[in-house]
Amino acid sequence: RPTVAGLDPARIETVRAREAARFTAARPRTQAALQAGAAPWLNGVPMHWMRDWPSPFPLVVAEAKGARLTDIDGHVLDDFCLGDTGSMFGHAPPAVARAIRAQAGRGLTYMLPSEAALKAGALMTERFGPFLWQVTLSATDANRHALRIARAITGRRRVLVFNGCYHGTLEDTMVELSNGRTVPRQGLVGQGFDLTEGAVCVEFNDLDAVEAALAQGDVAAILTEPVMTNSCMVLPEPGFLEGLRALADRHGALLIIDETHTQSSGLGGYTRVHGLKPDLFVIGKCVAGGMPTALWGMTEAVAARFRAYDAARAPGHSGMGTTLAGNPMQFACLAATLEEVATEAAFARMDAGAQRLVDGLSRAIAAAGLPWHAIRVGARVEFICAPGPLRNGTEAAEAHHPVVESVVHLGLLNRGCLIAPFHNMMLVSPVTTRRQIDRLVAAFTDIVTDLKDDSR
Ligand code: PMP
Repeated sequence: RPTVAGLDPARIETVRAREAARFTAARPRTQAALQAGAAPWLNGVPMHWMRDWPSPFPLVVAEAKGARLTDIDGHVLDDFCLGDTGSMFGHAPPAVARAIRAQAGRGLTYMLPSEAALKAGALMTERFGPFLWQVTLSATDANRHALRIARAITGRRRVLVFNGCYHGTLEDTMVELSNGRTVPRQGLVGQGFDLTEGAVCVEFNDLDAVEAALAQGDVAAILTEPVMTNSCMVLPEPGFLEGLRALADRHGALLIIDETHTQSSGLGGYTRVHGLKPDLFVIGKCVAGGMPTALWGMTEAVAARFRAYDAARAPGHSGMGTTLAGNPMQFACLAATLEEVATEAAFARMDAGAQRLVDGLSRAIAAAGLPWHAIRVGARVEFICAPGPLRNGTEAAEAHHPVVESVVHLGLLNRGCLIAPFHNMMLVSPVTTRRQIDRLVAAFTDIVTDLKDDSR
């Protein structure tokens, strides 16, 4: 009989129905609250991604502390989603909560620097390298602005991105490969202009394709994560990232490294851990401990070119910036996170915990005899319902089995473990305990054994 990711489709459906009923039966208060209060929001949620969880309806959260989250029915969950990286250092780290309380008495936004801003700049450079920084509210905006600088100083229009990439809802990057051609990504809402004029897409780990695209002479920048974390998890093959650097230089393009997710790699992100040399550097999500903050930085060489461009450009709006960006709350939280939360000791704990998790998941997969694998990038762990390693976005798309994955997610949730909805991602924070990790491994083992075995 045909299988899906090594499993019987009928068995998947049986387990799904049972797990969905179990989730629903355990949450009478949540159902009543949603019934009473969800209607004013479009389709019942304040942000449409909240409908993408595998449960019949979303959790309603009472509170989150450390690596635990409590819903309004009183279920205490071990949180390995951590806001899809926004809370990678744990929910409301005490040092960040203190910084928020202190700043709350001094104003929330005034479009001027604070002393904390000056301190945070020095901390950013010390941590991530000698970049000249700007702050935004989201990594989406940081990428948007970095790309504008690249276009400005090269006078070229295209961004080169990799098939299956994600850099936020930045239109310019919303392309994919279809039969070897760059096309707009499927499913975009209201896409009113042709994205392929500003972007070219090739496969990750394919330097020949990168070189062919760059040879056209119209690429302003390569924008990439060092590891593709939004397409399952695709690691760079040896020499690939160095190859990008060399090809960008040879063809007059810039290299933008997006560390929004791969900052899980360790102190200073993948860039510092692996000695990468980007022209522009982007980071966001948890960098300020969960306060909406992202930063983009450029090398002194890029800054010099930009200053010359800026001095010569026509007066008028730059097309960059948002009103609330650079508010003092961001800097208070950024400084507190860099100084007291995202420390070397914190990364050491995250790394050890994530290794324990990936080992446990790998054992469970082997014991169930499934053709799957587990992989990690620092504190970031993923199980993938296909053999690995994956080499590019096309392989990652083929490895993605939403029907199987959503049952595993829901089964984990019913066993007290929350993992990220859009991918099979689990984050280990500095406050995640070994016991929580072992519980997740046990829950995963239980659900995959159950999916495999219909005699139970
Ligand atoms: N870059 C990468 C690599 C991301 O994964 C994401 C979000 N998943 C973003 C940028 C955008 O972050 P945000 O949604 O906070 O703007």
